Amino acid sequence: MKKQSKPKVAFFDFSDCEGCQLQFANMGETLLEVMGLVDIVNFREIMSEAGEDYDVAFVEGSITTDNDVKRVKKIREKAKIVVALGACATIGGVNGMKNRAPLEVAKKRVYGDKADTVNTIKTMPVHEVVKVDYFINGCPVYIPEVVSVLKCILLGKPYVVPNYSVCVECKMNENVCRYEKDQECMGPVTRAGCNSWCVNNGNRCYGCRGLVDDPAANGAKDILAKYGLKLNDILNHFTLYNDSQGAKYDQAFK
Ligand code: SF4
Ligand code: SF4
Ligand code: SF4
Repeated sequence: MKKQSKPKVAFFDFSDCEGCQLQFANMGETLLEVMGLVDIVNFREIMSEAGEDYDVAFVEGSITTDNDVKRVKKIREKAKIVVALGACATIGGVNGMKNRAPLEVAKKRVYGDKADTVNTIKTMPVHEVVKVDYFINGCPVYIPEVVSVLKCILLGKPYVVPNYSVCVECKMNENVCRYEKDQECMGPVTRAGCNSWCVNNGNRCYGCRGLVDDPAANGAKDILAKYGLKLNDILNHFTLYNDSQGAKYDQAFK
């Protein structure tokens, strides 16, 4: 019987901190198991080779220049599967803060009288430029979810990112709600999938996985009611990772 070849996997980064790729590199034994199932041909955090022949492209980072647009389109042309890796790639992430002001204003604020020499465009998540097949949210990505997505890719199955709030996972983990401690938590409107990672570790949720679709319908209405919160009370502070969400974010206020 002909032995099936392993899918070739490549990693690419755009505007980001490479922290999501670092999560991969820190997977330890799990990374070794993954490497037994795929051929990693381009991943500069763990190897020096940079293969140009690949089936699966993990794209980390948001798109912020004309050159990024051209480059990600080329990656899309070559890859059978494109995976958006992390908050920068899936929702724009912290880079989205550039979109708070008109582009020319943002450029002037950062580059002063050199602003005209800088090539930059509004921050976009990858799917605003090319088709994305799999989304792995989070800043950084949550390794158990990465493994779930990898399994789906290898089995040729879709991966459905949860469309309910972090509060659902948080309650299943029996955490004491941060609102009991008078702390603001973005969990009621944030897309689950991280197993309430931060709250389990004594922190609050900062919203790194982005908004659930239609927060009025899919947000944690019970938590909002229990603590006397209005949806907009939370959405108004939902800016650390989500300023590039544009229309979707505006929609949430309707
Ligand atoms: S999502 Fe966060 S950890 Fe990942 S690349 Fe962007 S800033 Fe870094
Ligand atoms: S508001 Fe935050 S702490 Fe409270 S249940 Fe939701 S995720 Fe957990
Ligand atoms: S708890 Fe919130 S901030 Fe922390 S990983 Fe999950 S979605 Fe991101």
